[in-house]
Amino acid sequence: MAHIFNIHMVSLSGHILIVGPCAAESEQQVLETARALQEQVGETEQLIFRAGLWKPRSSPDTFQGVGEQGLTWLKKVQEETGLKVATEVSTPEQAEAALAAGINYLWIGARTAANPIQVQLLADTIRNRAEGVWVKNPVSEDAALWIGNVQRFMHYSPQVWAIHRGCNHHPCWEMAQRMQEHVPEAKLILDPSHMGGTADKVEQLMLQATHLPYDGYMVETHPHPEAALSDAQQQITPQALRNILQQMATLPKDTTKATLQWYRALMDEVDDRLWDTLAERMQLSRRIGEWKKTQGIAAVQPKRKAEILDRRLHWAEQAGLTAETVRNIWEAIHAESVREQE
Ligand code: PEP
Ligand code: MN
Repeated sequence: MAHIFNIHMVSLSGHILIVGPCAAESEQQVLETARALQEQVGETEQLIFRAGLWKPRSSPDTFQGVGEQGLTWLKKVQEETGLKVATEVSTPEQAEAALAAGINYLWIGARTAANPIQVQLLADTIRNRAEGVWVKNPVSEDAALWIGNVQRFMHYSPQVWAIHRGCNHHPCWEMAQRMQEHVPEAKLILDPSHMGGTADKVEQLMLQATHLPYDGYMVETHPHPEAALSDAQQQITPQALRNILQQMATLPKDTTKATLQWYRALMDEVDDRLWDTLAERMQLSRRIGEWKKTQGIAAVQPKRKAEILDRRLHWAEQAGLTAETVRNIWEAIHAESVREQE
């Protein structure tokens, strides 16, 4: 296999790259993706091929995965490329089938992670029979549950990695920081695909994480993302992955001040939520403004304005904020809302 990849341009040295499609769709798609990944980023020290066979989807009307037949396709990837392969398991039966087929790594998905009884059943089935088990964080922001799930597998084997996939398209960085503090022996892997939900956010998150102490990345890759049967908006091509890795390699990587970097990530996330909330408020304000016009009601209602400020000042005392700060912010928000409505 010819490698057109230049190791000096992309040196994520020591990082683990778990790459492959959200779901195995056909033998041809699986092999095409694996070959393209090898060609584009194959010189990176550790490349592991991922593909979901049993997909836990929200709607029963969407693609549910190809199931057991995909195991033979993953075996072909092993034979043809020498890559180790991984798939998600949600039941002991799926775990048995994957282990019997010689799948190297198994992972527990975010939806299964919500149920500790199911996770324990999987831990008791898999024990130390896989080369490693990866545990995704549950969709809800619950660091304790995630840590507990990792510990259930660690009871059997030290080869447990924690996959940080965020919650409802928020990073929830604090969960990862807590995982690292409580279970430092578990490798910490970032999944920017499910965390971001769109291809451009995948890039943004990977660049941001360069300064955070992750051991690797799990990135959904598809040769033709627009035609993917699941998670089409967030999958990227192997070529796009290569481009991101090249950008990452040019950034100065400094994880020595990990605590400061985590704090910055936490602060950025709080700011993002704050500004998103503000934008949401202005949108609502516009809707209300349109409705008021149809009713002939003035944009500013002094009594209502005074009531809101009063309530907020009372709250400020409990929240430990000064009345002056809260008043200033409220005045600015209100003035902007009035502009939106007029
Ligand atoms: C996946 O990795 O394809 C997947 C289903 O992820 P999650 O469980 O994080 O939603
Ligand atoms: Mn997916």
